[in-house]
Amino acid sequence: MSFDADVIVVGGGLAGLSASLTAVREGLSVLVLERGEFSGAKNVSGGRMYVHALRQLVDISEAPLERPITKETYLIKCSNRAISFSFSDPESRNSYSVLRAKFDPWLAKKAEEEGVIISYNTLVLGAEREDGGMTVRTNRGDLRAPLVIEADGVTAGISRSLGLRKLEPHSLMLGVKEVVKLEGPPEEGEARVLVGFVGELLGGAFMYTNEDTLSLGATVKINSLQEGNKMARDLVEEIRESLGVTGEVLEYSAHLIPYYGYDKLPPLHAPNLLVTGDAAGLLINDGFVIRGMDLAIGSGMIAGKAAKRILSEGKPQDTSVYERMLRESFVLKDMYTARRAFTLMNEERLFRRYPELLCDVLARMFKVEGERKRLLEVVQEEASKRGLTLTKLVRDLVKVM
Ligand SMILES: Cc1cc2nc3c(=O)[nH]c(=O)nc-3n(C[C@H](O)[C@H](O)[C@H](O)COP(=O)(O)OP(=O)(O)OC[C@H]3O[C@@H](n4cnc5c(N)ncnc54)[C@H](O)[C@@H]3O)c2cc1C
Repeated sequence: MSFDADVIVVGGGLAGLSASLTAVREGLSVLVLERGEFSGAKNVSGGRMYVHALRQLVDISEAPLERPITKETYLIKCSNRAISFSFSDPESRNSYSVLRAKFDPWLAKKAEEEGVIISYNTLVLGAEREDGGMTVRTNRGDLRAPLVIEADGVTAGISRSLGLRKLEPHSLMLGVKEVVKLEGPPEEGEARVLVGFVGELLGGAFMYTNEDTLSLGATVKINSLQEGNKMARDLVEEIRESLGVTGEVLEYSAHLIPYYGYDKLPPLHAPNLLVTGDAAGLLINDGFVIRGMDLAIGSGMIAGKAAKRILSEGKPQDTSVYERMLRESFVLKDMYTARRAFTLMNEERLFRRYPELLCDVLARMFKVEGERKRLLEVVQEEASKRGLTLTKLVRDLVKVM
């Protein structure tokens, strides 16, 4: 069987571009198949990128990043009351706001300059294992390689076409986002975690300041969106209005987000196949950070290196080294660390009962009406009103610690 490249990468987003750049640097020939007109045309992120993985791939001073995030704010809303607290670290250069429509084309150009071939407007329809390699079916005909790196995002079309997994609504969230023109420049790059802004739905909201725009939106469990009978478009509008943001809306997008967690990850590899990024369910939400982009870049880079090792040994069916490399890296180590917090992020009480509980406790602690109770007693009383015990509260707290 003749091959079109050493490696075919399906999807030209962060995972695919990181995998292809790394594989080309390892001396392999690489073909990326991307359905969009350009990389970034179909990609959505909130967009705050932790840049530790990106730093290992490129010189980040050249990258079109928006602003360094130097201020973290939690805003918890319960009815007409609110709690907020902020943490500022002006020197922090650990994460940046990004706009994927700017960032991904830049990374794609870099990959092409280093020898990656990207075929745009190429929709991959599925894949089949044949004669020791993989045949990838596209709208432009079939292509063959001994190894395929799947980087086609959350819907994981290749894994599904090979029968490795199904798409289950309970493992998905919907992300909706607007980019709004900033009225006057922000003083600094800020990330806001917004709790209690999605009504009865299970999920949270976010806002990031970019160079001259704001990204704001929400991530909600698909099931609760169906139950709540709510349109995603209305949800993001409500969030914008409740934040008092009035600038012109420049962009609206919606995208699925994988929500598997470490304990329920889908298969990460199969004969002739390495699965990366969202396609591999790599996403962390531990209440402090939401990370998919650095995991996509990290897993992509590891896949590029693993591809070299696999092909050098001449056994593209034996891809287990990729999972071993992922386990030794921050990708699966951090997924493991976040596993308990991740299960808590799936709980109804976190979104519905805890914000109200916190507001009621604070409202009572800031009031003086005769006899005053200790904080612990107030917490106990408010918790029991909601069918919660102190032990349950402490257990949940331990999960995020
Ligand atoms: C609203 C929202 C907010 C988010 N916020 C953050 C955040 O603040 N920080 C963070 O780190 N992460 C965030 N994420 C998650 C992050 O966006 C993803 O984890 C990341 O984009 C995954 O990258 P990827 O390369 O695996 O997938 P993608 O970026 O989805 O790339 C997949 C690529 O494959 C292409 N493709 C798909 N199917 C085919 C096909 N059949 N044929 C050819 N090409 C195909 C697509 O066009 C796309 O270019 C957010 C996600 C959403 C939706």
